[in-house]
Amino acid sequence: MKVVIVGAGHAGGSAAALLRASGFEGEIVMIGEEPAPPYQRPPLSKAWLKGEADLDSLLLRPAEYYAEHGIDLRTGTMVVSIARGERTVSLSDGTVETYDALILATGSTGRRLPLPGAERPDLIELRTLADAERLKDWLSPGRRLVIVGGGYVGLEAAASARSLGCEVVLLERLDRVLKRVASEPLSAFFTERHRAEGVDIRVGVEVAGFEDGGVRLGDGTLVEADVVLVGVGALANDDLARAAGLDCDAGGSGGIRVNETARTSDPAIYAIGDVTLRPVPVHGCVVRLESVPNALEQARQAAHAIVGRPQSAPEVPWFWSDQYDVKLQIAGLPMEADRTLVRGDPAAGRFAVFHLSGDRIVCVEAVSAPPEFMAGKQLIQRRTPVDVAKLADPAVSMKAVAV
Ligand code: FAD
Repeated sequence: MKVVIVGAGHAGGSAAALLRASGFEGEIVMIGEEPAPPYQRPPLSKAWLKGEADLDSLLLRPAEYYAEHGIDLRTGTMVVSIARGERTVSLSDGTVETYDALILATGSTGRRLPLPGAERPDLIELRTLADAERLKDWLSPGRRLVIVGGGYVGLEAAASARSLGCEVVLLERLDRVLKRVASEPLSAFFTERHRAEGVDIRVGVEVAGFEDGGVRLGDGTLVEADVVLVGVGALANDDLARAAGLDCDAGGSGGIRVNETARTSDPAIYAIGDVTLRPVPVHGCVVRLESVPNALEQARQAAHAIVGRPQSAPEVPWFWSDQYDVKLQIAGLPMEADRTLVRGDPAAGRFAVFHLSGDRIVCVEAVSAPPEFMAGKQLIQRRTPVDVAKLADPAVSMKAVAV
């Protein structure tokens, strides 16, 4: 039995290791476009950008792990096509690999803005170690960084750049930062915190293009910049799968459709991580998730399916973000919610926003509030009803809010 993994990122690297940990003794070939062995992306906008982490600490496993465990890791090489009939993949170096099972773990790519100057080589995005190295080279005290996009990556980069003494301007098209991914109280909290740290956050601004000296806005203003970071969301890298005729999402940010064992519409092909559109049984919905816990859960699903091990119980999706000394942790998805409730005081820098469907928590956004996150996640998983009045009272322990 031979498994080929396309993409040596968080999901691909984890799947290879989990196959071995699950007793898989067949051949494993993992092909990755980037030069480095599988590494963690979250520190790229946080500790790594601030110079607080080195390359070794980014790696998922030591570089020698793969050879020691019989994993044929080929970095700096791309898979360019899949021939499902023959069960082969063709590589950019001209070689062809056969497979019995194929795992697509190709991740996602930063969305490009269809604006004049958007292809300029001096615009930076923050997806890869190479991007982070370019950005880091620019960040020195007094330099002016303009960030387009108020999502997590933009906000984390803003916090890191401020701690390095850069001037930071953040431009967001919508009327609040994090609008697509977080509740209003959370957006308000982070906006206030960033402004207090000296970040010039401007919301409701339309970027018209990029040119020498900075970013041109729709009203004609030039926002001067030494360096521009664009972080406006990501699209699934599903081209290979589409070209091979696998079932993919036609709209939105794309994604390869998989089931709860990470299987695609071809039973010999699995897809895992950012590139998938996946069912989330806890919420009864199908979504594309971009998070490390999602990459790990699906890597486990594919590994277990391939070795014939029983699947683990479905997880509650979760995510984290670190900005300054603030630790944000989110569990669950808010789509089913009919109201929100804030527990604690945002002004004190420690609070949680609970999204409720009737008397059930479906999502918790916890700001430097690990007990609310932990307990909230469990209550979502178990679908336990809660006493809403108790939940609203921070003096009542989270253990006592379940009905
Ligand atoms: P990736 O890790 O992106 O790996 C995909 C790999 O496949 C890439 O190396 C790509 O080059 C390669 N590839 C693509 N096509 C081919 C091909 N045809 N042939 C060969 N190789 C190919 N998540 C959190 O939960 N918390 C965080 O705080 C957080 N912070 C983040 C900060 C940043 C700056 C970024 C970029 C992401 C962050 N994430 C965070 C998201 C998290 O890193 C991703 O969800 C995770 O990396 C997804 O893993 P993946 O393997 O699906 O994709």
